[in-house]
Amino acid sequence: MAFELPKLPYAYTALEPYYDAQTLEIHYSKHHNTYTVNFNKAVDAAGLEGKTAEEILTSLDSVPADKKTALVNHGGGFWNHSFLWESLAPNAGGEAKGNLGSAIKAKWGSFAAFQEVFSAKAVGHFGSGWAWLVVNQKGELEIMDTHDQVCPLTLGLKPLMVIDVWEHAYYLKFKNVRPDWVKSWWNIVNWDKAEERFNAISG
Ligand code: MN
Repeated sequence: MAFELPKLPYAYTALEPYYDAQTLEIHYSKHHNTYTVNFNKAVDAAGLEGKTAEEILTSLDSVPADKKTALVNHGGGFWNHSFLWESLAPNAGGEAKGNLGSAIKAKWGSFAAFQEVFSAKAVGHFGSGWAWLVVNQKGELEIMDTHDQVCPLTLGLKPLMVIDVWEHAYYLKFKNVRPDWVKSWWNIVNWDKAEERFNAISG
């Protein structure tokens, strides 16, 4: 069974005005779709049919070098975007609550302080990539970034939420002003989903 583009969990217009319908439609139906198509080709080429994306992305060290790059790029592109859509929601944003909200306050002092550090990581990422809130290998919250389509699962990290800072994610509306995209994105962060992920990890 080949990998399929997952269904977008809301309409293209659902994240307006914070994420415009035109960018979302192109981002999902063109960019994400292309990663999905090319991931399937890379999986076939590496003889990894039947494995889950998570299994593939967490065992890339066992793949020959000439097959690995395509899996990093397209497998990461497939998985990272699937994770991204689930990390956003209409009528969302605000502050993290519950166990995750408490853990964020314990680590950064306040939600506002966390936001400042996260925004700086997203804005400051050089070139194409992603900024993530993850649970690291020590079981602690961490803000980190990955280049191109590197997936945090490959690095042994457990992601909770994410922003895409590739230009394709924001250029149509926000042009070269990435800080405006980051500012807007805070209004569509699905903290309920991040909390659910956090609780599943800390179980
Ligand atoms: Mn993207």
